[in-house]
Amino acid sequence: MSGKDEYYNRSKQQGYRARSAYKLKQLDEEANLVERGDTVVDLGAAPGGWLQVAAEEVGESGTVVGVDLQRIEDLEEHDVETLRGDMTDERTRHYLREAVGERGADVVVSDMAPNMTGEYALDHARSVHLARQAFDVAEELLAPGGDFAVKVFQGEDLDAFREDVRPEFEYIRTVVPDASRDSSSEVYLVAKGLNTAPVAAGDRIEVTVEERGDEGDGIAYVEGYSLFVADAAVGETLTVEVDDAKPRFGFASRVADDDAGESAESDESAESGKSDESDE
Ligand code: SAM
Repeated sequence: MSGKDEYYNRSKQQGYRARSAYKLKQLDEEANLVERGDTVVDLGAAPGGWLQVAAEEVGESGTVVGVDLQRIEDLEEHDVETLRGDMTDERTRHYLREAVGERGADVVVSDMAPNMTGEYALDHARSVHLARQAFDVAEELLAPGGDFAVKVFQGEDLDAFREDVRPEFEYIRTVVPDASRDSSSEVYLVAKGLNTAPVAAGDRIEVTVEERGDEGDGIAYVEGYSLFVADAAVGETLTVEVDDAKPRFGFASRVADDDAGESAESDESAESGKSDESDE
């Protein structure tokens, strides 16, 4: 029996609407995406296999919102909100924002796929276009530290898309769930920990060390964000270069005095937000 038949049969036996349910289960097992109580947004959700899995994982205290071009039949056993609409349309995004509310989402997943033409380059380009729409939505809706998983067909634009997503998250992985293996060229990019740090790797900024951390580093605060500065004393004001910016804290090193005056004057990036550079 091929892998495809196995997952198809399992989905029938276990009451999932689509064999793709196992792809989300496997992504979740590999990358710990969905937790109890989470708010999950599912883009391209029809017929609803991922919605069923997400609803099971978040439990009664969680929230699941699904969107698709197609109507999604009500899920009787789960309290899931569904919207019918095109994710490339601003009106759909507006309704989705309203449904998610101000707290934002913990996880945005997208299994959106274009109608296949059979022309590989075109199908790939359309898939990347949908994945980019999902990325925009994820950046807009995710709360700090939130996770994003998106389907993309392999092809020449995949690497560039991955490079665009990467700096916005703590780390990114490419995952091919077993349930995808024999079906197509699809892969999933799983990006964990939306980075909402007010600084980015490579930024040079002036900071004042306000506290001493457990490891002896100085701690400076940038808009409430903790920046650990090696070999810096409490009360010291100095120019640092950000080495690594995680969603909730970052690491920076002292810039030699000779370099500092020039760079601190020329770089206002701590106020203007993230630079283009970032670590994985
Ligand atoms: N994850 C789903 C499940 O487990 O039931 C299966 C999703 S199916 C592979 C892909 C879905 O993406 C289709 O239902 C399609 O209608 C939807 N889709 C494609 N383009 C879309 C768009 N622009 N906006 C919303 N949904 C879209």
